[in-house]
Amino acid sequence: MVELGDLSTPSTNTWCPGCGNFGILMAIKRAIVQLDLEREDVVALSGIGCHGKITDYIRVNAVHTIHGRVLPVALAIKLANQGLTVIGFAGDGDAYNIGMGHLPHAARRNVNITYIVHDNLVYGLTTGQTSPTSREGYQSKSTPRGAFELAINPIAQSLASNASFVARGYAGDMHHLTDIFKQAITHEGFSIVDVFQPCVAWNNVNTYEFYKERIYKLEEEGHDSTDMDEAYRKAREWGDRIPIGVFYRMERPAYIDYFPFLKGEPVVRLPLDSFDITETMKDFT
Ligand code: SF4
Repeated sequence: MVELGDLSTPSTNTWCPGCGNFGILMAIKRAIVQLDLEREDVVALSGIGCHGKITDYIRVNAVHTIHGRVLPVALAIKLANQGLTVIGFAGDGDAYNIGMGHLPHAARRNVNITYIVHDNLVYGLTTGQTSPTSREGYQSKSTPRGAFELAINPIAQSLASNASFVARGYAGDMHHLTDIFKQAITHEGFSIVDVFQPCVAWNNVNTYEFYKERIYKLEEEGHDSTDMDEAYRKAREWGDRIPIGVFYRMERPAYIDYFPFLKGEPVVRLPLDSFDITETMKDFT
């Protein structure tokens, strides 16, 4: 049985003190422990950005991918070995800018992976530029007069892509975030969790205080997470009150259900001598 200490690594953590990434790291470790997952059965992937270092700080199988490409690598790993629990981490720039083209297709295919987005509404690693989720009017070194583009709405975008599990967490609420991660990981299909992750270095608008004054939990207000219309309505809430929790979940066949032959022994464990590619190779000679 894995314990929290087993998931630590010797890597020196270089995140800024107080960064919301710490909350996400601890919550995912707690989720792994509470779900009693074996380290060798978990694969964590990350993209480019401050969040990307998370794969250095958690002792499971880890892949640090390139910018915006967490999802295709995660899908490939899962399809090659159904026995693995695959968890992809991305930043808001990573996921909703350069990597945005992958999200709708991963969602509609319903491959059984979990996608966790560290959404700090700013580019942190590159020292504070406006990101796809920065709100209209947000001032930064890249938009000194305020952002004029409207922000991406990750929840509505995921709903429109037919993701079968759509949730939002907050890095400042460890217990709630751990519970959402556990639900996402055990969901049979594609799950996305957008996490409010305060960047204490560069975003002085969407701070811990900002969220503390505004967020409320959907489950405490009787939200029906099987109702798509209601999920859309909640996804559009932003202002004095901002919801976190599970917006929507749907049980439907996962991608693998259409390919039963992939459900058996993972490809990597099949004996090579059972394949004869002689005929195939003739096409190349
Ligand atoms: Fe966290 Fe922001 Fe520092 Fe990056 S720059 S480690 S996101 S506080």
